Amino acid sequence: MRRTRTATNIAAPCRVDPQSGLLLLARQVESPNSDARPDGVAVDLIVIHGISLPPGEYGGPWIDELFTNRLSRTAHPYFEQVATLHVSSHLLVRRDGEVVQYVPFQRRAWHAGASSWQGRERCNDFSIGIELEGTDHEPYESTQYAMLARVVVALCRAYPALSADRIVGHSDIAPGRKTDPGAAFDWPRLRSLVQFELEVAPA
Ligand SMILES: [Zn+2]
Repeated sequence: MRRTRTATNIAAPCRVDPQSGLLLLARQVESPNSDARPDGVAVDLIVIHGISLPPGEYGGPWIDELFTNRLSRTAHPYFEQVATLHVSSHLLVRRDGEVVQYVPFQRRAWHAGASSWQGRERCNDFSIGIELEGTDHEPYESTQYAMLARVVVALCRAYPALSADRIVGHSDIAPGRKTDPGAAFDWPRLRSLVQFELEVAPA
């Protein structure tokens, strides 16, 4: 069943529908790059990534196209090396705060690759991947932090094994191989926003 494309509904509550595993306010773009999580594995980790296509350029349809295997190899020289990858994330938060969802949370998105966290391999099995549109060295936008914090709190409320201290960067679970979300990502800022949302936002 294909989900239809929808616009981000900024007025919608930032809440996960437990049946569908969809974030209500997200624009939905279905990625074929997902599969079932292993039986009996709880979602208990959030992995933050950074992505821009081509690197350092924002806007454009390229991330949607990459995650749906429709990226043209010839549209930009950089795309030659990524167009054949089969990758996805659950969510993308764009520079303007728009949220796009590619994979329902109960399914496994292909975002982490070879990875390990606290001795557990294959972090895709038990994590939710969130891409931020950005680069390692350019500050992320305030609206991205604000939306990310709302999304993190919605996820923590939907998946009880998640918590505010179970959020890592891709670089934390694939050190030496991955650097995102990079030095530009302000972890204390995210953590304080999440704390604030947990305390004041209605459940
Ligand atoms: Zn990454």
